[in-house]
Formats: sequence, C-alpha cells, structure tokens
Amino acid sequence: MPASLDANLKAVRQTVARSAERAGRDPMQVELVAVTKGFPVERIREAIAVGLRIFGENRVQEALPKIEEIGPADVDWHLIGHLQTNKIKFIEGRFRMVQSVDGAALAEALDGRLQSPLDVLVEVNVAEEPQKTGAPAADLAILTGAVQATQHLRLRGLMTVAPMVEDPEAVRSVFRRLRVLRDETSQRLGVPLPVLSMGMTDDYAVAVEEGATMLRLGRALFGPR
Ligand SMILES: *Cc1c(COP(=O)(O)O)cnc(C)c1O
Repeated sequence: MPASLDANLKAVRQTVARSAERAGRDPMQVELVAVTKGFPVERIREAIAVGLRIFGENRVQEALPKIEEIGPADVDWHLIGHLQTNKIKFIEGRFRMVQSVDGAALAEALDGRLQSPLDVLVEVNVAEEPQKTGAPAADLAILTGAVQATQHLRLRGLMTVAPMVEDPEAVRSVFRRLRVLRDETSQRLGVPLPVLSMGMTDDYAVAVEEGATMLRLGRALFGPR
C-alpha cells in the first residue's frame, strides 16, 4: 500500500533527523537503501513512486528477475549479501555497488570479470559472530589492500551487520568500532572512505548517532516480511 509506505518513510526520515541532530550531523548525509529481499516487484514500484532510489538485495538469484522487471529506471541496486563466486558474472551492468566483499580471493575473482569500475564496500564481522559473513577486523588491512590493488574495484567504505539484540544500545559499540576501523583504513590507504553502511530496522537510530552514512532498511519501510 503506497499510503503506508509513504507514512513509514516519513517516520524513518523523522527518526534519522532526530538522531542526526543529537549527534550534530547533517541528516542529508544519511542515504537510505530500501532492502527488498522477500518483497515483490510491486512494492519496489511503490518505493520508486515515493522517491526511494537505492535498492538492496541479499541474493543475486532473487535480485536478477526484479532488476529485469524494473528495467532501466533511474534506480541503483546494491548487493548486500554474500556473493558466491558462481554469481560474479551477473554483477556487471546490474549492480551499482557490492557492499559485501569479505575476502581477497572474492575481490580478485570479481575484478577479473569486470570491464568497468564498480563501487564496493568491505563487510566486517565486527562482533566476530561465527555464523555470520564478513571479514574479521584483523584481516582488514590485507583485504582492503587487495581491493585497492585491483583494476576495477573502487573501495568506498565499510559495511557491517550488527548482532541481533533486544536493546539497540547494546550494539552501539559495534557501530563505533566500524567507524574507527574505517578511519584507520582510510589513513592507512591514504584515500577517503566516505561510506559507513550500518543500521537496519531495529538499530538504525543508534547507527545514525554513530556516523552511519547508509542505512539498509527493509521492515521499517515495507512492514513485516
Ligand atoms: C535483510 C537485511 C537488511 C534489512 O533488514 P531489516 O531488518 O528488514 O531492516 C539489511 N542488511 C542486510 C545485510 C540484510 O540481510
């Protein structure tokens, strides 16, 4: 229902504005990625109608038919879930950004299939949860170095999925840590890394306070999956 999506988007923007204000940040520096996994193409059309322009999908397989159906509208697609090597061939020309680069071998394989530049984020498993994807922070220097050494990948920043907790305050330290890792990486490589993709439906208010520049929101926009 476009009406409820519209209302949800307004509520999200209000929350972002309040969190940004608390942190002395400009809310315009926070981009919304509408996460459409599990939602049909009609919801994506409604999202485009209310002004959303960046869409996130977890799985290439689920994304392909949606990207095809939406067609060359004025939207960007981001891959936000683990990229399997056998899906690398589908990235070019469809995805504007891969947020989930989590290994040097994957970065090199992806680079080998590309003919044009691609923006990427390195995904960090900050809390080192064993069941989660993302590189451990200890690997970040080598991994980001490998990404920088490729021909086509343009490292734009870091991404993380915080642990699921009852109280979002419990993951503030995870977001803070990602920002420090981003600052250190930027210094080490001598390049600006403007993007901090962190914050989902249950924790985005805290993520904005801690410096998120990109929120990945599914349920906050579209309701329960
Ligand atoms: C599903 C998903 C999201 C969005 O989750 P919500 O809780 O619906 O906001 C964000 N990032 C990643 C990596 C996801 O898999």
